[in-house]
Amino acid sequence: MGGQAVSKTKLKKGDTVMVITGRERGKTGKILSLNLVDSRVVVEKLNIIKRHTKPSQKVRQGGILEREAPLDLSNVMLFCGNCQKAVRLGIKVLADGQRVRTCKQCKEVIEKA
Ligand SMILES: [Zn+2]
Repeated sequence: MGGQAVSKTKLKKGDTVMVITGRERGKTGKILSLNLVDSRVVVEKLNIIKRHTKPSQKVRQGGILEREAPLDLSNVMLFCGNCQKAVRLGIKVLADGQRVRTCKQCKEVIEKA
């Protein structure tokens, strides 16, 4: 091991993904951020952690702060609205040379690669 192996994924920020393992399994959400170096992905409203905050000068009232904790990239897959399930992404090269991402299941074009 060692070195900074950057994950390879066809997923992008804004994609809707489904969690395929762990306690959030079966849930879907939009990718808020991707970290390919750490293989981490933050998905909107998924894997919420509660952090207790103490009152400070900035925040008069302490309380519970909820935010998304990163998930492992391998735990999510693209959610295809057409197939209504988690699918693998394929790449298709169009006649004009443009590369687009497709659902491997139904061949639906997701968007530009
Ligand atoms: Zn599909």
